Amino acid sequence: MLGLMQNRPLLISNLVDYVATWHAETEIVSRDPAGLMHRSNYGQVAARAKRLAGALTALGVRQSDRVATLAWNSWRHLELYYGVTCSGRVLHTVNPRLFAEQLVYIINHAENGYIFFDPGFTPLVEQLAPHLPLVRGWIALCDEKDMPSVNVDNLLCYETLLAQASPDYAWPQLDENTACTLCYTSGTTGNPKGVLYSHRSTILHAFAACAADGFALSAKDSILVIVPLFHANAWSLPFSAAMCGAKLVLPGPRLDPESIYMLLEQEGCTKAGGIPTIWLNFLAYIENNRAKLDFSKLKLKLVFSGGTAAPRATVEKFRDLLGVFLLHAWGMTETSPLVTLGSPLGKHDGATEAEIVDMQVKQGRQVSGVELRLVGEDGEALPHDGKSVGQLKVRGNWVISGYFKDEGGKVVDDDGWFGTGDVATISPDGYVQLTDRLKDVIKSGGEWISSIEIENLAVSHPDVFEAAVIAIPHPQWQERPLLLVQAKPGTNPTKESILEFLSTRIAKFWMPDDVIFVESLPHTATGKLLKIELRAKYGGQIAV
Ligand code: ADP
Repeated sequence: MLGLMQNRPLLISNLVDYVATWHAETEIVSRDPAGLMHRSNYGQVAARAKRLAGALTALGVRQSDRVATLAWNSWRHLELYYGVTCSGRVLHTVNPRLFAEQLVYIINHAENGYIFFDPGFTPLVEQLAPHLPLVRGWIALCDEKDMPSVNVDNLLCYETLLAQASPDYAWPQLDENTACTLCYTSGTTGNPKGVLYSHRSTILHAFAACAADGFALSAKDSILVIVPLFHANAWSLPFSAAMCGAKLVLPGPRLDPESIYMLLEQEGCTKAGGIPTIWLNFLAYIENNRAKLDFSKLKLKLVFSGGTAAPRATVEKFRDLLGVFLLHAWGMTETSPLVTLGSPLGKHDGATEAEIVDMQVKQGRQVSGVELRLVGEDGEALPHDGKSVGQLKVRGNWVISGYFKDEGGKVVDDDGWFGTGDVATISPDGYVQLTDRLKDVIKSGGEWISSIEIENLAVSHPDVFEAAVIAIPHPQWQERPLLLVQAKPGTNPTKESILEFLSTRIAKFWMPDDVIFVESLPHTATGKLLKIELRAKYGGQIAV
């Protein structure tokens, strides 16, 4: 027998209509590249998203066409998030930090006809344009007076397009499985691959993001969205904040710690989301400027951190300096991205501070709505004993079923499980702890060594800014760990001091065979350590 409840499609337009009706006055605050503040609200953003949808129709953009953005976090980018998706087109948020060849590849692969760009990206646009035969027009995200001079065909002005468009636009009633956004993985090996989200997956994922043991969002929140809108839908924040009517604060291109601090203070931000590198720089600024900053003016309670592991030192500094809880999240572009979140359980009420941090540095517990498995090399299910190391597999309504245009072929097994390529343990109380990427694992004499854990410990050393651990070949043990260290500015740590620091914290056979000091460590376009490059440069060293 079927239930007798209504079956309405899960659409982003419902979300946008909701927030425009019930939270119309809630602010959307942006900082432009010049540092000037722009104040808008959900009512205005939603109304302008409708104008934008009409303007796209006038430009001949059809349903399912992919509309690209090359833009930082701003109110106009948010309008594109809503206007493009709610009208049945697909928003392709391009990561401008990718290499030019990768950008050319993905824009051609996505067959983008129009590209909306921040004027600051003019040099990039000029570099890319000659290689993009399918692009019919470039739309600068500004008004007429700020139009950049760009040597491209059909340069249009965003504000003029909106001014000319009708305010009356009715969102189409789409099938909830219609595609809404497209995001390419950064492709450290091979070409980037497109992840194509649907309205349904996006709405279901947003519910999980809002939940109390998710990002715990509410209409009382003011959220600083540091994670870029071009990175895995900014972890759902444009959608989940709209779902509960939370204020959004969009920092534009200025992600330096001083700017972040200023926005947190000025906009009364209660929550903020960003990757650990951002937090590392932010906390260094806080520490160095303690005397002149008045932390009592901050309302910040919770920061979300994901993309790479949050080091213990980061978690502790947030607690000690600002009284802020770092909520560690794990996921991938392919999983929308949220899969696990490090919220405490009831049993943590009586836990010591150190025990709470032990929990926070893990990647967290699986949220409801997706399923997670830990599997061994033969695909067998491994126990949640905190010791068994295996690959994480995921399935669920916001997990990829295949890449755009079927790149890479079949990506899920016959039972629908997607192999994440992440290696982890799961403790008896359900907390996942990532130990490595499958391609980065270090196996020494048949035993796993977690590069992530050594890196996190190394950055707890007072003089270490960032650390990377890679495998180097060894005649007896097959592989041994090599530690690469970028020292904090103005410090001069020695190899001995770092090894001594680690020796009291990790097992003897985990101890790096060598420490090499580097000027800086290479990162991918999404802020992850580029180990492929490090292995090419340092991985040949034979440890003896
Ligand atoms: P995102 O950076 O948005 O999470 P990507 O698809 O760029 O998505 O990268 C996903 C990969 O990033 C994961 O497979 C994992 O290796 C790594 N990652 C994500 N979150 C964490 C985390 N909290 N700790 C460690 N690694 C993480």
